[in-house]
Amino acid sequence: MTDFSKYEDYYKKTLLTLMNTPSPSGYYHEVMPVIKELALTEGCLFEMTRKGCGIITVPGGDGETVGCCAHADTLGAMVRHVAENGDISFTRVGGPMLPTLDGEYCTVLTRDGRKYTGTFLSRSPAAHVYDDASTRERNEQNMYIRLDETVNGQNDVASLGIENGDYVFIDPKTVFTPSGFIKSRFIDDKASVACLLTAAHIIKAEGIKLPHTVKMLITVYEEVGHGASWIPSDITRMLGVDMGCIGSDLSCDEHKVSICAKDSGGPYDYSMTCRLAELAKENGLGYAVDIYPYYGSDVGAMYRAGNDVPGALIGTGVHASHGMERTHMDGIANTVCAWLYTNVTKNQSRTLKTRLIFC
Ligand SMILES: [Zn+2]
Repeated sequence: MTDFSKYEDYYKKTLLTLMNTPSPSGYYHEVMPVIKELALTEGCLFEMTRKGCGIITVPGGDGETVGCCAHADTLGAMVRHVAENGDISFTRVGGPMLPTLDGEYCTVLTRDGRKYTGTFLSRSPAAHVYDDASTRERNEQNMYIRLDETVNGQNDVASLGIENGDYVFIDPKTVFTPSGFIKSRFIDDKASVACLLTAAHIIKAEGIKLPHTVKMLITVYEEVGHGASWIPSDITRMLGVDMGCIGSDLSCDEHKVSICAKDSGGPYDYSMTCRLAELAKENGLGYAVDIYPYYGSDVGAMYRAGNDVPGALIGTGVHASHGMERTHMDGIANTVCAWLYTNVTKNQSRTLKTRLIFC
């Protein structure tokens, strides 16, 4: 059992701030200033890459720089076309499960900064009118966005400033339950960004001097495959922090930190994975080692881009990923602790355990 109560409020507040800032892949313009502010408050250095990623640096002792990454981008959509009657058809950004989008609230952002709310709907949206209201396949052709504006045609939509290529934000619907669950569309991967910021917060609050400098790369194109294809050149190893899979024959649940041994892109670094499992065991964390059958991560993007850097992957167990996601504060606590134990010395782990975490 991990007692994380001392930092739970910080975590939840940080997560809620991130969740309430829309950031579908490639639209980092609102979220990155928020992350910068949070990082600077924790005494970290912050810089932004030309492509929009954030680099949060937590200075450490010995001249070596180790890396970790989490992605701030989420799933979303874009205006594809406005029909003659004013219906907005959309294209997905990343891979949200379309049946779960049916009935979801959203916001369209125009290029001049106006925001309009709407709802994703099936083109057979009324049970009293369409005999295929329940059965019509939910795909991009059969769905559209109903705007909460009085529009009778293409011109009305155009006069609102809405154009092809405008981003559409899906409402995150974030809820913290009294039983410790966190429900939201975008646990993947804002939960992990908040984990990294919480780790930075704990390091500062507990006065820990890390043995190595840590660079946290916060990417903005993970959901479309090339998030961490560029990494800072001084990083010697990379720990991806992204959602852990749950379901089928996998052994993780929402209370655990998942350590991924292999995903669709192949095995993660064997030594790093062994070390993560060993530290989790040694420190009494709730953890699972699993194979993710349909999954890719920023570590895979880093590998495929040709970086000579080993990488591993951890993350809180997330139920119903790319749908209505859910995790638990236990999984979050285990993830933050797994990150901390990997990045501090053995002595510091002992101190951390007595001062902050009671296993
Ligand atoms: Zn992810």
